[in-house]
Amino acid sequence: MSTLLSAARTDAQWPRLALRALRIATVVGAAVVSLAVLAKALSARLEARAEPTHSTLSAIDVPIRVPILVYHSIAPHHPGQTAEQRELDVDTLVFQKQMQFLVDHGYRAIPFATLVAALEGTATVPDRGVVITFDDGWATQYRFAFPTLRRLGLTATFFVYTNGIARDHVFMSWDEVRELRDAGMTIGSHSRSHPLLTDANVSLTDEVEGSRELITRNLGTAPDFFAYPYGEWNQRVAAAVKAAGYRAARAYPGGVVNSRSDLFALHSVLTTDDMVAFERLLGSP
Ligand SMILES: [Zn+2]
Repeated sequence: MSTLLSAARTDAQWPRLALRALRIATVVGAAVVSLAVLAKALSARLEARAEPTHSTLSAIDVPIRVPILVYHSIAPHHPGQTAEQRELDVDTLVFQKQMQFLVDHGYRAIPFATLVAALEGTATVPDRGVVITFDDGWATQYRFAFPTLRRLGLTATFFVYTNGIARDHVFMSWDEVRELRDAGMTIGSHSRSHPLLTDANVSLTDEVEGSRELITRNLGTAPDFFAYPYGEWNQRVAAAVKAAGYRAARAYPGGVVNSRSDLFALHSVLTTDDMVAFERLLGSP
């Protein structure tokens, strides 16, 4: 009788014991899973620090390797050019070769906005992404670079300084700037009169906000991006650019890697008409 009772009690306890064992196993299992998730996140973070990646969609500020190429004038070389002009003015045929090199080697010209969105953590950039930019608004860019860009289906960003536009034949007209925009190019501001913005006598309101207003009036949309004349900036200048409503600003030079903390002083690379230097600056992807 007592044996029977004891056996009955033991039988009755089984479901409770099994339930308790199951609960313990669940808690231990959950702990193991959380540890694994934590370890994975930590190792991903360490990897991100060790090596810049091509894209990001995370909250972590991962450096992105997308060269921002800086061009000035594109025109056939001619006798009488100074050493500086020879460096800054890329010969038309060399420019065509450089763009063809990008296409032949699988590089993807991406809009300035895509790189900025990737740095903000809301977009990805393709492998071998590259951003092509032109400074100042020279007429030669419209005449000699634009046809090549259009033929090869490459997008680029043109940073114009508004006092130059439509001033004389050396600069583009507003019609030409609009034509670039309509063809899928990005138009950014490069100030109003191209001064050293770090000079305390320069009106940042006039240069940074004024140029934005003028571009808005002529294109119908406000420019999102700014390029510092001569690449010169400091905290005061960067704060003025941000306050005026721009999303990012390009400095100069500084290399091919940028992080979210660089959004208002993006590094870039000067492009000259030296083909070997061009291939070297793109580096091995
Ligand atoms: Zn400039």
